Amino acid sequence: MKEILVLGAGYAGLKTVRALQKESGDFHITLVDRNPYHYEATELHEVAAGSQPKEKISFPIQEVVNSNRVTFIQDQVFSVNRIEQTVSLKTKGLLHYDYLVVALGFTSETSGIKGAMENALQMVDIETAEAIHQHIIQQMAAYRATKDERHLRLLICGAGFTGIELAGAFVDERKRYADLAGVSPRQIEIVCVEAATSILPMFDDDLRNYALNLIDSLGIRLMTGCMIKEIAPGQVLYATEQTGEELQAIEASTIVWTTGVSGSPVMAESGFDQRRGRVVIQHDLRDPDYDNVYIVGDVSAFMDPDSNRPYPTTAQIATQMGKHVATNLLHQLKGEALEPFVYHSQGTVASVGNTHALGLAFNKKVKGYPASVIKKAIMNKSLLDMGGLKELMAHGRFDLYH
Ligand SMILES: Cc1cc2nc3c(=O)[nH]c(=O)nc-3n(C[C@H](O)[C@H](O)[C@H](O)COP(=O)(O)OP(=O)(O)OC[C@H]3O[C@@H](n4cnc5c(N)ncnc54)[C@H](O)[C@@H]3O)c2cc1C
Repeated sequence: MKEILVLGAGYAGLKTVRALQKESGDFHITLVDRNPYHYEATELHEVAAGSQPKEKISFPIQEVVNSNRVTFIQDQVFSVNRIEQTVSLKTKGLLHYDYLVVALGFTSETSGIKGAMENALQMVDIETAEAIHQHIIQQMAAYRATKDERHLRLLICGAGFTGIELAGAFVDERKRYADLAGVSPRQIEIVCVEAATSILPMFDDDLRNYALNLIDSLGIRLMTGCMIKEIAPGQVLYATEQTGEELQAIEASTIVWTTGVSGSPVMAESGFDQRRGRVVIQHDLRDPDYDNVYIVGDVSAFMDPDSNRPYPTTAQIATQMGKHVATNLLHQLKGEALEPFVYHSQGTVASVGNTHALGLAFNKKVKGYPASVIKKAIMNKSLLDMGGLKELMAHGRFDLYH
């Protein structure tokens, strides 16, 4: 009996297991994750804003894996030894594998910016997202006591996809924050500080202008062309083209870091040939150095043959990779040739709060309310992939008529 070990029950890892567990064969699957639940990382901003409880975006892993085929172990992965074919866990020691799937996902990337880790809130998992919401509640209470307006400013570092989605979720909750602080909603200031001079580079001018107008109409203050140099306690220091090296400062009691992500630190600690926690993988999704190791999702870099650059790491590509790994593992177990992975992008839709969105879906531009319905349909499809009908019915987004 061959042992298949899957590390990480995110989009890539859980999809691998769910596809494999349906197949017969002389293999057993072990799945390891540090949490007992799977969470939809694409919805973390809603937990951070407090518009959804964590239960809405997560479900127990045990509910969706077949215990006759899969052993689930809740533990922290420390490192992988590809020569010995073992994985070291924090509490349960060593696990042996014949085939390994590494799907340990993303963590925050601070690019060496001083103070970014210590003085900004990160949003990388359920705990950190919940901590952001708790922090905001505390700041609103602090304003009541001190009347210091810095408590009312929510500052997001980065106006990328994640930063914009978080800002939109903050807008949805602005009235609640204001009530907690005893002020009017317009006194809750939502700010995005961004180094680039424009936003959302993956979209054309039409969609970008739509996004800019929407952001403006929602009262989000967008500070583009501001290169963050340091995060001091309660303060973001930045340079602009006009002011050069002379740093400017903006103060806020809530500072959230969303400027980028890298792959799991386990990759570097385990000696993978990685950059920022990502390994450039082969066309069949395997480690270039070890034929029995697959690397998928945010810990991988898969080259786009058109641009000759890696595809952006997304839940969409992670899920497709998970499915493909299952196919290739079955081939490998039978001694058959492996199939190259081909990514089929279904587009990118960014939500800006619960009722606005914009982007590209199936090669068509979508904006406003229809885009928000499409975004919810995409999320529901992903939930169906990860958890099946039961989790879709329990956690799906069916508030389509708003
Ligand atoms: C706010 C936000 C919005 C996003 N929106 C979109 C979107 O609209 N569309 C899209 O396609 N993508 C989106 N993304 C990106 C997407 O979430 C990631 O690309 C995706 O989560 C990657 O999937 P993954 O399976 O590789 O890793 P993850 O989803 O990060 O899962 C990794 C799993 O590994 C576990 N794990 C990690 N380290 C360890 C360890 N050492 N030991 C044990 N277990 C461990 C974690 O608990 C987790 O379950 C968004 C991301 C964010 C943060």
